[in-house]
Order: sequence, then C-alpha cells, then structure tokens
Amino acid sequence: MLKSLIHISGKRVLLPLYHVVSDSDLKHIKNLYTVRTTKQFIRDLDFILKHFEPVNIDSLMGSVNNRTKIKRNSVLFTFDDGLREVHDIIAPILKQKGIPVAIFVNTDFIDNKNLFYRYKASLMVEEIKTKEISKSQFNDISSKLINNPNSINVICETILNIDYKNKSVIDEIAKVINLDFDEFLETKQPYLTSLQIDSLIKQGFSVGAHSIDHPEYFNITYDEQIKQTTESLQWIKNNFKQKYNLFAFPFTDNCVSKQFFETIYSSENPIVDLSFGCAGIKDELFTKHLQRIPIEESHQSIRKILIKEYLAYLGKILIGKNVIRRR
Ligand SMILES: [Zn+2]
Repeated sequence: MLKSLIHISGKRVLLPLYHVVSDSDLKHIKNLYTVRTTKQFIRDLDFILKHFEPVNIDSLMGSVNNRTKIKRNSVLFTFDDGLREVHDIIAPILKQKGIPVAIFVNTDFIDNKNLFYRYKASLMVEEIKTKEISKSQFNDISSKLINNPNSINVICETILNIDYKNKSVIDEIAKVINLDFDEFLETKQPYLTSLQIDSLIKQGFSVGAHSIDHPEYFNITYDEQIKQTTESLQWIKNNFKQKYNLFAFPFTDNCVSKQFFETIYSSENPIVDLSFGCAGIKDELFTKHLQRIPIEESHQSIRKILIKEYLAYLGKILIGKNVIRRR
C-alpha cells in the first residue's frame, strides 16, 4: 500500500524527524513526547529502508537546486535538539547501515551549558509527582502559576504548558522544590559535546542550527526570529566545518512570515541554504524549505505513521490544502 501511495503522491523524498532513541527512563523528555526504544527504532529503520534509499544533504541540495533529480524513493533521517543519545545510541546503529543523517542543535545547549525550558518542565513534573511536596511548597508553587492551581495534577499540567516567554517561572519553582538543573546537566550530560559532534561529522553526519535556545517562533518578534536564526547559524559556522547552512525551526514554522523566508533566502545575501519544518508531508512555495514527518507523537508503527501521512497529504490535495501559504 505504501508503495502505491508514494507513487500516486509523487512525494519520493521522506524526511523523518526524531529527537532521541533510548531504552532508559528519560525524565527530561518523558512528559513531552514518546521515546522510541532501540528495538522500535531498528524496526522503523528496517521498514523505511525497504521502501526508501538513504540520501545525504548533497543529493538533497542538488535536487532542491534542480541540478540533479532524485530518481528513487529517498530518505534523509534528521534528529533535533542535539541529545547525547545521537552519539551514544543512534550513530552506532546508523553507521552499521551506512545511513547519512542531519542533526540540528541549539547553540545554547551544546556542551551542556544550559537546559531547554521544556526539558526543565518535564523534570520538574517528575519531581513534583514522585516527591513529597509540603503544604507551604504547594502554596508557593501555586502562587507562581497564573491559574493558581489547586491540585498536583493541574500544577503539572500548567508547568508543562509554560511557554518560552514565561520560562523564568520554571526556574522560580525549581528554587522552591530544590531542583537543581545545573546538577542535572553535570551528572546526566543530556546534550552532545562539541567533541562528540566533531566525531559525528567525521562519520558523515551533517550539522545544522535549531536556533539559540529553542523559542516558539510564533511567540517572538520578527527581529528575534532573525537573531535566533543568524546567530545560531554563525555559531555552527565558527565551530564546525559544514558545507551548507542548514536550519530546522524549533517547535514549528507555523505563522512564520513570508518576509522571514524572503530574508533568509534573499538572492543577494542568503542566510540559509536549506531549512526544515515538521508539518508532515506538505508542499511549500519556498522550495528550499522542506517539511518533515514527526515520528515521536505516538508509539504507532512506522508503517501506520507513514500511511496516515501519505493519505492525509492526498486528502489535502483534493481540497487544495497541500501547499503551505505564508503571509
Ligand atoms: Zn527541537
């Protein structure tokens, strides 16, 4: 069935988006999205490789620039957020199978300098759910949250909904419950180090930017969007030798303006060579912006996820909604 769907849709380039693969209990992630185990990931790979041939960024760039045509069904695996498991678990598996990969990292987090505010929220929820919270701590936490929640469940839900603009609230609550994010960074080392990234590059990985510290782009001004994009790309350029300027939007590119794309792809002074979103299979008016399929939204089999994606895309063609238009 998938074979016919690929053929009918003409969407021959598959861009799966993952963050992590792990058999451990990842407290900083478990409240945010599902984590595929090594076994599940190998199952994904085996299925994908039955239908798609791995390609690297060069081939993808070539096809986007219309220099070469991708003739076969092709796949490029991508991993966001620069987590250590990319080096420890994912790279050895992919190396064995000779599969090229693109990773997208946040320049504030590389080398475990800082922790993504959403990971802080997930850790905090684990702490609140599993440790005894005193009455006064409870009241203190509740008073810091906008809706003054009156149960642990609502507190956790509210913490998980805190956005980039209000992220300092997470640090304030951390003080109340003595949760030390620096200690977590030091002992768990959740992120890749520059040295590990160097060794991944030697293995054939491509490295791109994923903003400085992972804001929702719809939540920040145009100037902040440009700053987050250019500065993170510049950092990658200064620290790693990469052929292309690659950028993956943190969270979503939803509501990012036409002006933003015109600026990063301006013909005189392009900031980005190729960019990535995560809206599933969709077409873009900006041909250098490619949409990927997020895989970690459920524990469904990759076969189910892909069939659903292709059917949704074909459905959108019928109602003329397959192309993302930006204002
Ligand atoms: Zn991300």
